[in-house]
Amino acid sequence: MRPEDILAPTPAGVCCKLGAFHIDPTRTVERALITHAHSDHARAGHGAVLATQETLDLMRLRYGDNFAGTTQAIGYGESVNLGGARVTFHPAGHVLGSAQIAVEANGLRIVASGDYKNAPDPTCAPFELVPSDVFITEATFALPVFRHGDATMEIGKLLASVALFPERAHLVGAYSLGKAQRLIALLRQAGYRAPIYLHGAMVSICRYYLSRGVVLGELRTVSGADKAELAGTITICPPSALSDLWTRRFPDPVTAFASGWMRIRARARQYGVSLPLVVSDHADWSGLTTTITATGAGEIWVTHGQEDALVHWSETRGLKARPLDIVGYGDEDDAEAAGEGGSSA
Ligand SMILES: [Zn+2]
Ligand SMILES: [Zn+2]
Repeated sequence: MRPEDILAPTPAGVCCKLGAFHIDPTRTVERALITHAHSDHARAGHGAVLATQETLDLMRLRYGDNFAGTTQAIGYGESVNLGGARVTFHPAGHVLGSAQIAVEANGLRIVASGDYKNAPDPTCAPFELVPSDVFITEATFALPVFRHGDATMEIGKLLASVALFPERAHLVGAYSLGKAQRLIALLRQAGYRAPIYLHGAMVSICRYYLSRGVVLGELRTVSGADKAELAGTITICPPSALSDLWTRRFPDPVTAFASGWMRIRARARQYGVSLPLVVSDHADWSGLTTTITATGAGEIWVTHGQEDALVHWSETRGLKARPLDIVGYGDEDDAEAAGEGGSSA
């Protein structure tokens, strides 16, 4: 049996004929297995959805109760048999509830890792290395120029700026699912105890994280606050709000954007932010290549971003590699900066 007989790329996403399911389908299908709740992976309208409880809950928050015909929750380390395939979910370290999906049949294991990072994140379970024969990897930041560094250093930059400009407000653009909560949790780990203000689009997801035991400290909404009260404070907002009239309610705001793209100065200028913070929920070049090596996989399928460089790198290491060419996956930060982040933007 070839790997393609277990999982095959189709225009709707990776498909397992044996088990009659798709993983992170980009079109509506009968049965979907979903790695995490970001909107490019988790779409509404599938017949049946199998995902972690957190992913199902976050999809319900975003899309409403009728987001799928039926749902089934699965925990990390749990397996189910679907047709002739055995499916197991493992933590991906990307956002709360994010999973890699291992599909096994006839002694072959393919791991679809979804979006992942192998950097520490206080808001979700850490990435688990799952040995595999075929590893399907994302490629959002798959160029050697991308080195995300230590997120706590970036938090230090933000706090230094807050200390330097006590009369100004700090607005931090951050994707509303995952990045926003990670920034807040990192600020708390760094000892920042003041209330943190939220744009309205952040409130329901932050509340959900709180209900799952993630430590975020005191949160307030911006809408009730007057301008003077916001001096010296930190507000987390969707990146698209940074260029919005909404910013006028803040005293002389310093704008920051937390994203892996902030490694590129031209990007920071393009978004007009004065304080770029390199914080990403995706693996950087070194994270991608060390993870690929560590899985022991002899074959690498690359999707979701800059496929070519990672395919080339894999081939120079003697691995079989191919791009999957599935259209429809995009980077959350980029989409939301452009105001395409969907209902939660
Ligand atoms: Zn994602
Ligand atoms: Zn994605």
